[in-house]
Amino acid sequence: MGHNGAVTRSDANTSSRRRWIALGAFFLVLVVAGGLAFGWNAWRQAPPAVVDQPIASPPTATATPKAPIVVIVSIDGFNPEGLALLGKASAPHLTQIAQRGASTMNARTSRDSTKTLPNHTGMLTGREINGAHGHGVDFNDDNGSTLAADTGTYVPGIFDVAHDRGLRTAFFAEKDKFTYLLRSWDSVHGAADTTGDDNGADKIDHWNIADAAQIVSEATSLIEAQHTDVIFVHLASADRAGHAHGWLSDAYLTALVSVDDSIGAIRTAIDTSERPATLIVTSDHGGPHGNTIHSDSTQLANVRIPFMVYGDAVAKPGDLYELNPARTNPTNRLADGTRDHPIRNIDATNTALGILGLVPISGAVSTTWPPIQLR
Ligand SMILES: [Zn+2]
Repeated sequence: MGHNGAVTRSDANTSSRRRWIALGAFFLVLVVAGGLAFGWNAWRQAPPAVVDQPIASPPTATATPKAPIVVIVSIDGFNPEGLALLGKASAPHLTQIAQRGASTMNARTSRDSTKTLPNHTGMLTGREINGAHGHGVDFNDDNGSTLAADTGTYVPGIFDVAHDRGLRTAFFAEKDKFTYLLRSWDSVHGAADTTGDDNGADKIDHWNIADAAQIVSEATSLIEAQHTDVIFVHLASADRAGHAHGWLSDAYLTALVSVDDSIGAIRTAIDTSERPATLIVTSDHGGPHGNTIHSDSTQLANVRIPFMVYGDAVAKPGDLYELNPARTNPTNRLADGTRDHPIRNIDATNTALGILGLVPISGAVSTTWPPIQLR
């Protein structure tokens, strides 16, 4: 019994060992075959395709439209006559943005000023300079203070509205004076976020003040990364050439060609964006032919600027004033007095907020004007 038992046990052990060997060999073959297959795949297409595959969206997610991206580009000192002189051959991107977007070459600066900092403050707050709801920035240099300190009340901008609602924001400029605006909305001076989740007082997630090559590269990368919702870019080279050599001079036109290159890089990122993306191009002021000073706001050449909207939000390309009969297409320096609602650069903020599906800036003078229609 013991012997039989031993034999049986021994047989069982031998049989079990054989099974383990067979199983081991089987798995060895699997591992080798798997390794070969992986190696073959890796060789055939490296890196393996599975690594880069986006996770398939559940059916409910495909029904949800993707959130929009808006990029506002201000071309400092952009007299639209410069674009007309260059034409499509020399400035292909700005020309096509004008033609394929909803655009006008007859928009206006702020009513009160043709200076850089006042107009950019308006562009980013939707406010005029003077009056009860004015942003108050009539000076043109960083005074080391903030909008809130200078006006005695907090002045929200496009970044407040977007950031307080959980959107991501970016700000790029070529001139140091823009530090005034960055400071006004930074973690120390920005307002508390009392709307929904607390996204903090710092209204601008990503910013830089640097030359055009650097900031255009950063802005383009942010669009490509698809995680920033509203991006502002200021390009200065046309203005610098205007101040040095006169507006519409050869140097000015050459600078505008370089601006067109920058616009082209941003436009490519807009065109290839998976999220619906829209580009708004406008300016802080124009400049007088052959002259180097643009501060006289009674001169048509200083107050007349382009306003172009290009990309996903534009359903009907064409003339912005034809799309917006409620706005006055001005035949002179400003619109006629009683219907003083031309399309202005300060429309940029509320137009962008509308595209983003957000509320307009409360109290901003442009909020009381008929909103700009793009379709
Ligand atoms: Zn300027």
